[in-house]
Amino acid sequence: MIHEILPVGPLQCNCSMIGDETSHEAMVIDPGDDIQDVLALIAKHSLQVKQIVITHAHIDHVGGAMKLRAATGAPILLNQNDYALLKMLDMQAAWVGMASPGKVEIDQSLAQADTVKAGSLVAQVIHTPGHTEGSVCLYFPAQKKLIAGDTLFAGSIGRTDLPGGCFEKIIDSLHEKVLALPDDTVVVPGHGPLTTIGEERESNPFLK
Ligand SMILES: [Zn+2]
Repeated sequence: MIHEILPVGPLQCNCSMIGDETSHEAMVIDPGDDIQDVLALIAKHSLQVKQIVITHAHIDHVGGAMKLRAATGAPILLNQNDYALLKMLDMQAAWVGMASPGKVEIDQSLAQADTVKAGSLVAQVIHTPGHTEGSVCLYFPAQKKLIAGDTLFAGSIGRTDLPGGCFEKIIDSLHEKVLALPDDTVVVPGHGPLTTIGEERESNPFLK
């Protein structure tokens, strides 16, 4: 598996570029900004982007999706429960002091237990509402890797005080779905350093 993690934009969202080493088919997860840098890494590995996956519709995760779609032709995937947040991108831009990316069009909804493929790589969609209603994590069982969006961070969890957020729901999602994964699963959060399920099970103050 080719996996590049590039922190993008003013909020340093972790954008993942995940590619099959043989076929060079790839998916890009959370292209929030800095699409020229994302495209440079894609070119460096000769990747062909087949899917653009958005873990949730916050501007720092979705802001560059249309530029990336225009450059690659790949469809944009997002859980339908976040479509309402997508309509608030102008407001979100004002909150964080970013330029509005304009309208973002979703090509396909992602639901619990869907699979997203790039070459031989297979990710399972885990719907984890709480940070937003439509938040999803992507789990690669063969690689024991979880792209967690803003649901789980090293030592913390996603905030739930923004529109669509719900503390009880994120705690349920974490206990019922995320902590069900093996301890040696590597977690790539939406911001900040990598961690593992075991480390968070052990020491995350929100999961005690
Ligand atoms: Zn977020």
